[in-house]
Amino acid sequence: MPRVFSGIQPTGEPHIGNYFGAMQNYVKLGDLYGKNSIYCVVDLHALTSPTAFDRQLLAQRTFDMALANFAVGLDPQKVTFFVQSHVPEHQELSWIFTNLTPVGELERMTQYKDKSEQLESVPSGLLMYPVLMAADILLYKADTVPVGEDQTQHIELTREIARKFNHAFGETFPEPKAEYNRQALRIPGVDGNGKMGKSKGETSTLGLLEPLDAIWQKLRVAPTDPARVRRTDPGDPDKCLIGDYHKLFSDLPTIDLVYQGCRTAGIGCVDCKKLLMKGVTEHLTPIQDRAETLRQDPDFVRDALVQGAREARAIAAPIMDEVRTKVGFLK
Ligand code: SF4
Repeated sequence: MPRVFSGIQPTGEPHIGNYFGAMQNYVKLGDLYGKNSIYCVVDLHALTSPTAFDRQLLAQRTFDMALANFAVGLDPQKVTFFVQSHVPEHQELSWIFTNLTPVGELERMTQYKDKSEQLESVPSGLLMYPVLMAADILLYKADTVPVGEDQTQHIELTREIARKFNHAFGETFPEPKAEYNRQALRIPGVDGNGKMGKSKGETSTLGLLEPLDAIWQKLRVAPTDPARVRRTDPGDPDKCLIGDYHKLFSDLPTIDLVYQGCRTAGIGCVDCKKLLMKGVTEHLTPIQDRAETLRQDPDFVRDALVQGAREARAIAAPIMDEVRTKVGFLK
């Protein structure tokens, strides 16, 4: 059976791009692989962002990200779900890998180059980010990593580190493969500026737990196909983010109605958006209700994370034991 690992950044409120691009997939993989689906809120990775050094904010966001995943249906009894900093072996393995990885290779990582260019002083943690990511994955000997395509280079580095370790110390780690969720690439931001979450924060996102009236305010003013200058002008729903959102939230008869109506000018954009809002409401209401129930019972979330860390450490312990022996630490 495959062993799946995925890390979830505790950065801000999860949005529908995270939901359709990753969280929904986590639930599906959890149904297939049970405890072999290992998910981790990567609070150590979050420290590479300058804004993360806010004690309360980091803790709150870590908690919120766990809560949001449970609210969309991830069952902590079924999968292994924990917080990265609760399992110190991540850092131990990362340090060993750091010494197998040339600085030049890390400096060539596209994400490092993009992020470091925007900073006056670059924390060395940002350079080491992909090494910690390799440790996250290999600590569990995971072979399958659901990620976005922007992580391709990091997964290739993970494979390279596994090869180097195996070559130096004997066959130990698998070379994990990325499993891309292509749907994530097609979820545009509600402001019309590229992928959701990639442009100016909350103006581009529809929050998973955002009040429905706030979501409607964003949809109401969202750009549509510019060809529809007048109500009587036909449009192309494939060139409109509202058309894309319908494919996520609406049932097939509604999608047919809207796509046909748009192309023949049989429906106006406001009515089209109202139909979309109906689907959004039906989809998000149960998630938001579950999130509210969990907020009333924070101990459920905390207890699940304590248990998850226990389970993660039980998987990691024999692997780290093997690594320590092979590396030559005195026992
Ligand atoms: Fe977009 Fe709908 Fe207007 Fe067509 S009718 S342009 S899909 S909002």
